[in-house]
Amino acid sequence: MNKNNANDGGANASGGRRKRVLILGGGFGGLYAARRLGQTLGRRADVEVALIARENYLLFTPMLHEVAAGDLNPADIVAPVRKMVRNARLIQGEVTGIDVQAHVVCYRVGALRQPREITYDHLLIALGSETHYFGMSDVEAVAATMKSLADAALLHTRMVAALEEAAQDTDAERRRHLLTFVVAGGGFAGVETVGAVNDFLRDAIRHYPELHSSMLRVVLVHSGELVLPELNERLSRYTMQKLSGRGVELRLGARVSGYRAGMVLVTPGEPIGSMSLIWTAGATPAPVLSSLNVEKVKGRLKVNEFLEVAGQEGVGWAVGDCAAVPDGDGFHPPTAQHGMREGVAAARNIEAAVTGGQRVPFRFSTIGQLASIGHRVGVAQVLGMRFSGLAAWWLWRTVYLAKLPGFSKKLRVAIKWSLELLFPREIEQLVTFRDLDRVEKLGALLRATRSEAEVQASQGLRWQEDSSRRGSVSRPSGVENHVGH
Ligand SMILES: Cc1cc2nc3c(=O)[nH]c(=O)nc-3n(C[C@H](O)[C@H](O)[C@H](O)COP(=O)(O)OP(=O)(O)OC[C@H]3O[C@@H](n4cnc5c(N)ncnc54)[C@H](O)[C@@H]3O)c2cc1C
Repeated sequence: MNKNNANDGGANASGGRRKRVLILGGGFGGLYAARRLGQTLGRRADVEVALIARENYLLFTPMLHEVAAGDLNPADIVAPVRKMVRNARLIQGEVTGIDVQAHVVCYRVGALRQPREITYDHLLIALGSETHYFGMSDVEAVAATMKSLADAALLHTRMVAALEEAAQDTDAERRRHLLTFVVAGGGFAGVETVGAVNDFLRDAIRHYPELHSSMLRVVLVHSGELVLPELNERLSRYTMQKLSGRGVELRLGARVSGYRAGMVLVTPGEPIGSMSLIWTAGATPAPVLSSLNVEKVKGRLKVNEFLEVAGQEGVGWAVGDCAAVPDGDGFHPPTAQHGMREGVAAARNIEAAVTGGQRVPFRFSTIGQLASIGHRVGVAQVLGMRFSGLAAWWLWRTVYLAKLPGFSKKLRVAIKWSLELLFPREIEQLVTFRDLDRVEKLGALLRATRSEAEVQASQGLRWQEDSSRRGSVSRPSGVENHVGH
């Protein structure tokens, strides 16, 4: 890491150096921390709060499956960071490296992915997790995932495209493969996804005279004997019974082990011919953390009860899915309800570090767990009480509507949900194969422009080395010292 390219911090009105609190990641952990820090330290002249986030919105993941099912639009379940966070500098960028010794973070911005660096006095890492394929590159190449907004929107498009193609296909086997959908993973994301996929397909197929719902095959592959293992056994069994009753085939005690020639390989068991594999069976901490030289627990950054990264006390904190946060003998689970509270708790401790106050340990017990499993049925375990059926589904909608950030979004979702009781779901294929071809061409053009820019930047670097030999001082092109503007 080139310390010369890093900024030494902005200056305040009296010309003194401002301390910088830098937050990485705009998800539940990072955003709620940035919101609080903006309201406290962000108002001070001697502190700058900065947030680097890949997206300029907070994605409300609990409602992702509603977008896949076509019940909600993508914009309904996101909240703009710039409206949520005040008194903080927002940088849309991709973090590419963290140097905890030099207190420097490297990141890239814009379509050309221009490299930048920024220094910090205090760092909060909230980079979340990414889909993990356990080294199965064949699965990674074909599978749809349920992690981002685009994932959910594309899954919806993919289901409509499969129905349209199956309606035109006269080859019986190919048609069967087009109408078979396999979801891997029986945790919350997998069960909610399979419920949404099944509901959508069974509703939509009625509009295709060439097809019949008996032609659909929706399979859930899960390595355990009970889905939703985090819940009480009775609720897990209820979920399995409801899914089976709605036509979902359960392959329990089995794993997806690959994808070859149009077949989802399942171990143990028969392969399943399908063009649509949806992978929700694994998560791993953000890859950029793998090279970070600090203590970890299964890839997650080890933190103490004050959420300080081991060895970085008073300087570095970590929260959310990328952090192993101690809870008695174990660790807190990676959920949104924990991530946002950890973010606020870390923000408090960062304030204490800056102002010399008292640190507060993070203590939190899961309030409840809720899942919507399709066809207006849910399961819920809240404060030790258990609910299932319509009551749990209603509770799910009420709780998550209340938690969705922003009044306008809440209102929009409430209206959509009410309309959905009266009107059938949308079945438009908003992205066609022609659109995909155009996106691919644009992607190729972008990649070529990026490589050209990188070649030019490296030539600039060489030129700098040559000219510095002649005693001149220069900066390599493509690397800007942007901080403090
Ligand atoms: C389908 C699904 C359903 C879920 N349902 C629930 C639920 O009902 N209830 C619940 O409590 N939890 C739920 N979760 C879990 C919950 O979403 C996570 O636990 C929570 O988002 C973790 O918060 P976080 O801030 O750690 O990570 P995230 O919210 O994932 O945020 C991390 C942020 O960092 C960004 N980032 C990552 N790498 C980089 C990089 N290199 N550079 C820049 N930015 C980067 C990401 O883009 C993201 O914006 C669900 C998750 C999924 C996938």
